[in-house]
Amino acid sequence: MQVWSFASGSDGNCYLVESEGTALLVECGRPYTQIRDLVESVGLDLDGLGGIVLTHAHGDHCRSARILSNTHRVPIYASRGTLGALSLEDLSLARPIESGKTYVLGQVDVKPFAVPHDCREPLGFRIESGSGRAAIATDLGWVPSNVARQFRDLDLLILEANYDPHLLHTGTYPYFLKQRVSGTYGHLSNAAAGDAIAACADRPPAAVWLAHLSEHNNSPKHALQTVSRVLRRHGLGHVPIKTTQHRRSTLRWTSAFARERQLPLFA
Ligand SMILES: [Zn+2]
Ligand SMILES: [Zn+2]
Repeated sequence: MQVWSFASGSDGNCYLVESEGTALLVECGRPYTQIRDLVESVGLDLDGLGGIVLTHAHGDHCRSARILSNTHRVPIYASRGTLGALSLEDLSLARPIESGKTYVLGQVDVKPFAVPHDCREPLGFRIESGSGRAAIATDLGWVPSNVARQFRDLDLLILEANYDPHLLHTGTYPYFLKQRVSGTYGHLSNAAAGDAIAACADRPPAAVWLAHLSEHNNSPKHALQTVSRVLRRHGLGHVPIKTTQHRRSTLRWTSAFARERQLPLFA
């Protein structure tokens, strides 16, 4: 399994997961041509996608879903709430999915779980194949136990670390927006992300990407410092943590299984 972060944050989100020949685009919140170029830059193409998987209907996660699906005949997997909010429910390629079920998309299993966020039926995903297990949870106000459960036994956890409370409260956002971001249906703070990982101390993820960092109320340094401090306190200082970037394709992760399999190619 391989995962790329192409974009992450309120200006657009887009991740690509590839495993055993199945490629899934998770979120498509950047302009269409940019997503096409990014996917092609890693040697894949949009016609070969097995699906577009959407967490929720906010524009930073789905703005190019319709054009991408129509142009390349790729099915869109999202909750009924998300499909309805985007007026996509009648699209022949719309595939409604539900929290708690497993969907087999080619060689990859997608397991949606409900998250608390201010829109209709938002989801996070556990994504598993024969060679890796990843999960993505961004845009959630807090981490209920049904969500925390999904973070165990993972090779890669992509988890929101949206804001530093001090930067948020002393920053320029209007009061209502500060309340929305920090509310139970808003976004996850750095400390809350750290606590959620620490809650899996018995079976922690092998690697973590901190994602959807606010450009105004956070920085990679703040996020890494806070989360690392929490993890060290729980004996998890060895878990490697990286931060995604807003509009740059910088992170690529390859599962150990896939790395081993690739070795003979380079021998
Ligand atoms: Zn978002
Ligand atoms: Zn959102």
